[in-house]
Amino acid sequence: MKKTLYLKFLLAYGIFGIFGLVILATFVPSMTREHLIREKANSLYSEATLIANTYARNLYNSEISLEAVKDQLDALAVYLDSNVQIINPSGRLILDTDMPIDVENEVIIESFDSAVTGSSYYVIDNFFDVYPQDVLSVIAPITTNYMVKGYVVIHTDMTSIDQSCNSLLNISYITLIILFLLSLIILIFFTEIVYLPLRKITYATEQYATGNMHYEFSIDSEDEIGYLAACLSYMASEIARSEDDQKKFVANVSHDFRSPLTSIQGYLEAMLDGTIPPELHEKYLNIVLNETQRLTKLTNSLLTLNNLNTKGMLLDITDFDINQVIRSTAASFEGTCLKKSIAIELILTDEVMYVTADMSKIQQVLYNLIDNAIKFSHHNSVIKVETTEKKNKIFISVKDTGIGIPKEDLKLIWDRFYKSDLSRGKDKKGTGLGLSITKEIIQSHNEHINVISTPGEGSEFIFSLPRSEENDEED
Ligand code: ADP
Repeated sequence: MKKTLYLKFLLAYGIFGIFGLVILATFVPSMTREHLIREKANSLYSEATLIANTYARNLYNSEISLEAVKDQLDALAVYLDSNVQIINPSGRLILDTDMPIDVENEVIIESFDSAVTGSSYYVIDNFFDVYPQDVLSVIAPITTNYMVKGYVVIHTDMTSIDQSCNSLLNISYITLIILFLLSLIILIFFTEIVYLPLRKITYATEQYATGNMHYEFSIDSEDEIGYLAACLSYMASEIARSEDDQKKFVANVSHDFRSPLTSIQGYLEAMLDGTIPPELHEKYLNIVLNETQRLTKLTNSLLTLNNLNTKGMLLDITDFDINQVIRSTAASFEGTCLKKSIAIELILTDEVMYVTADMSKIQQVLYNLIDNAIKFSHHNSVIKVETTEKKNKIFISVKDTGIGIPKEDLKLIWDRFYKSDLSRGKDKKGTGLGLSITKEIIQSHNEHINVISTPGEGSEFIFSLPRSEENDEED
């Protein structure tokens, strides 16, 4: 299975070689031979025409002797490596450079026909049985006074043409072999650039499929394959991270459930077996009640987080007066504030201020922030809740003068179950989930939440909400 791509490429390479060879062995020889014959015939025909218009015509006009013409044509025949003949229209051989002049024994070429070349100017055959083998013959008419007196015929052996053809073909074969070897470079490139990286990617995918999300690999290339590898590697690392987060989450949940359950179990057993006397039962039952309340709070927070995390969380978006929500949320803390002598000061721009958001979720955000502000504030302090308007946004700030958050904890407070060491003494009931719920809610509105804090001086949480456009127009 893994080798298929490589085999396919090798097959294509083989097919390329075989096709090249077949084409070279079939079409190319005939084309080359044809070309060489035409070239040769062309040059011989020019020579024949030249002879017909000079020596041969002079011969027929009795301006030159037969011997003199023969001498000239003999030399030319050697030069052309051919046989030159002068033939009468009747077929009588007047002159042949291959034979001495013999006036007594005249040679007649039986059935000589000057039209043997047809539409072409050359013919390949045994020339009316004059030759035992095929020769290339060209025929040029000798004309005087617009009358054909005879023909100059030049014959040349086909072996020289065949030899040239074979040498040309050999060159083609060598070129093909060189090309075939050179194309090996493509095969090497394919192996290096595509096949080997692809094998690495396939192996990595197999590792991920078997659950080994921590398998690391890299492909040193910036092309599409390199990009694919980088994406795959990134995807695996994200899955691994989310798996780790999940494990950490489950461990944290189990831990946070186990400690109140252990103490509940401990107190109840101690009451049942009499270790805790009946007169102290009420005190310890109150502790047990506290712990169950903490468990309920934890369960509710987890459920909320789970719902927020569900993809495509549905927000019930409406236009509402944020000032009103701030007032009512602050009022719900009246009792707690009284116990710690804490005052909540509301600095609200305008009487009413409409925002577009999910009211109940924003109420929860305000509740979490004010709850934290009270928890981490000292007695007799003031908490300020302030709204400001900038461009199309409303910024809501919850500011306390409490214990503050150490710089190194600022990034971590948004993580689930995170509680800073500073806060542990102040808040034993805290679950560490409040701020992560808060952040999820604000982010699901596509808005932002930030914190500014100095240990020992206090903290300020600021989040934004979109101002309602409809109610603006009404105003
Ligand atoms: P919890 O429900 O336990 O309060 P949160 O997620 O709301 O959990 O807060 C996480 C941690 O952030 C707290 O334990 C505390 O250390 C820190 N924190 C949050 N708000 C404040 C604040 N106003 N002042 C100081 N520390 C804070």
